[in-house]
Amino acid sequence: MDFDFTEEQMMFRNSVRSFANKEIAPLVEEYEKRQEFPIELFRKMGALGYLCVTFPPEYGGAGAGLVDECILVEELARINSGIAGSIMVQGGIGSTIILDYGNEDQKQRYIVPAIRGEKIGAFGLTEPEAGSDAAAIQTRAEKAGDYYIINGSKIFISNGPICDFVLVAAWTDRSRKPTDGISVIVVDRGTPGFSVSRKLDKVGAWTAETGELVFEDCRVPRENLIGEEGKGLRYLLRSLNRGRITHAASSVGAARTILEEALKYSRERVQFGRPIGKNQSIAFKLARMAMETEAASLLTYHAAWLYDQGRKCSKEASMAKLFASEARVKASNEAMHIFGGYGYMMEYPVQRYWRDAKLSLITEGTSEIQQIIIAREIGLL
Ligand SMILES: Cc1cc2nc3c(=O)[nH]c(=O)nc-3n(C[C@H](O)[C@H](O)[C@H](O)COP(=O)(O)OP(=O)(O)OC[C@H]3O[C@@H](n4cnc5c(N)ncnc54)[C@H](O)[C@@H]3O)c2cc1C
Repeated sequence: MDFDFTEEQMMFRNSVRSFANKEIAPLVEEYEKRQEFPIELFRKMGALGYLCVTFPPEYGGAGAGLVDECILVEELARINSGIAGSIMVQGGIGSTIILDYGNEDQKQRYIVPAIRGEKIGAFGLTEPEAGSDAAAIQTRAEKAGDYYIINGSKIFISNGPICDFVLVAAWTDRSRKPTDGISVIVVDRGTPGFSVSRKLDKVGAWTAETGELVFEDCRVPRENLIGEEGKGLRYLLRSLNRGRITHAASSVGAARTILEEALKYSRERVQFGRPIGKNQSIAFKLARMAMETEAASLLTYHAAWLYDQGRKCSKEASMAKLFASEARVKASNEAMHIFGGYGYMMEYPVQRYWRDAKLSLITEGTSEIQQIIIAREIGLL
């Protein structure tokens, strides 16, 4: 058993950390205010090989493992979780289905530019009436000669407002069950009938742009179908573990920053003649935050390691995602309290960590959905 990163992983972590400190941290305040993603980061990160790191070298990727991707995500989320979220979509749900099931032409058209940061990907599954229950989607893609005609709408789509292409989950055969009737079709920005109807105003994760997408008689060539017709939901379900593990890594990164800042503040803030951290009630909060962050990290990297070994990891992925997101939310609550009135002021970043944290309980499967999976994996439900 070896709990250490390899020398290469340590070097990778240091280089991402230094990039995030130098190139991302100075942008955060401005882009948080603008509620925009600093778009130039895609090209910068692409040029440095930081996008889609697990993708194979033949397409320009680093051929790294999920442990490496978690290292990257953790470092980005230490600085800003919205930015980390957008980058995760690029190397995750916004592209992996093309890598795993697309044909060579699709890989050249989407994967190669995605790795370079020249095209931004998004994934559209969720709809106004279908969230956790993905099979309840209504969007349909009807065949018309060499085209699909797509009609429907998608909500809460990360990178939607800035994407160059979006993977759309749509019914291609309503007479069949969802795992045989829903397909994934790639739609390019600018295709007539496809529009971003609005950019959504969110509680947090302001640097991750989220949108509502509308498809109105949107004609897409049949060659844009990814993999086999009707198999889209299966592809998606197979990719879930990966997304859950990287989301856990994002929570670990965010929790580390929250802990560091709360620790620093509790050493510096003096009340009644001594630092507030000298009070056992504050020290115990920090002790728990440190313990839960560490436990979240261990669950996350263990799940990523299992994934890289090609081993079964549904239970571990859900446990990591659930535990890490809850640890992050708890840490952000405690930090708000430790910072007292300053924590509640918009000019300090603690309120942002608190607002951003809440999202981690919702995306990539809510906490209830993770518990359903874990309960099934331990033989219940
Ligand atoms: C900022 C943001 C970014 C997102 N990005 C994307 C994206 O890029 N692409 C995409 O397709 N989607 C995206 N989503 C959608 C996200 O995946 C869904 O919000 C999530 O799956 C939950 O769906 P819902 O919001 O419709 O909630 P619902 O499914 O309606 O759930 C509401 C509540 O009921 C609970 N619940 C539901 N079913 C059960 C059950 N069986 N048992 C117990 N409790 C249950 C849930 O846990 C939750 O607490 C994003 C969402 C947000 C907020």
